[in-house]
Amino acid sequence: MEALTNRVKPVDRRKMSFWERMYLPAVFKGMAITIRHFFKKKATINYPEQTRPFSPVFRGLQILNRDEEGRENCTACGLCALACPAEAITMECAERKPGEEHLYREEKYAAKYEINMLRCIFCGLCEEACPKDAVYLSETFAPANYQRKGFIYGKADMLIPDPKTDPEGFVKAKGNRIAHPQGHGNEH
Ligand code: SF4
Ligand code: SF4
Repeated sequence: MEALTNRVKPVDRRKMSFWERMYLPAVFKGMAITIRHFFKKKATINYPEQTRPFSPVFRGLQILNRDEEGRENCTACGLCALACPAEAITMECAERKPGEEHLYREEKYAAKYEINMLRCIFCGLCEEACPKDAVYLSETFAPANYQRKGFIYGKADMLIPDPKTDPEGFVKAKGNRIAHPQGHGNEH
């Protein structure tokens, strides 16, 4: 039969020599290779105790942003959902009521905002599309989960801590993110 590739190697059917039949030289050769690796620099690390530094352009789990006064930036315009090539974002819009000015920056806000992390390809287009600097991709992973529904992230999972009640958490969630001069996305 004609071979599809030229990678086929014929099986060596030569009679084994005395030392080959003893197998010991082959065993010692294998052990020598193993011992040599003890003294080589390890290619692996002890994750999660140790982590590697992320690339400056790493794109992780989405964060919903607040302004310095703790108000949600998102105005539920839907541009991020429209830009998303994976159709991973859904939201429901609501109108801000009098007295809620301290909660939402704009007159409209996202009553429900969900991202399906199983669909998301972490392309960052939602962040690029957002005119309100309301969604950005952070420097953390979406953790593993046993259930598919555990990968549907809601507002509560993604909303950045309130700088008024948790200033440390707010700064940590921002990470090394550099705000764009016009407030659109970041400069990573
Ligand atoms: S990162 Fe890309 S795929 Fe993921 S939600 Fe944003 S636009 Fe969609
Ligand atoms: S995150 Fe930005 S683009 Fe998406 S709905 Fe909110 S304001 Fe609009």
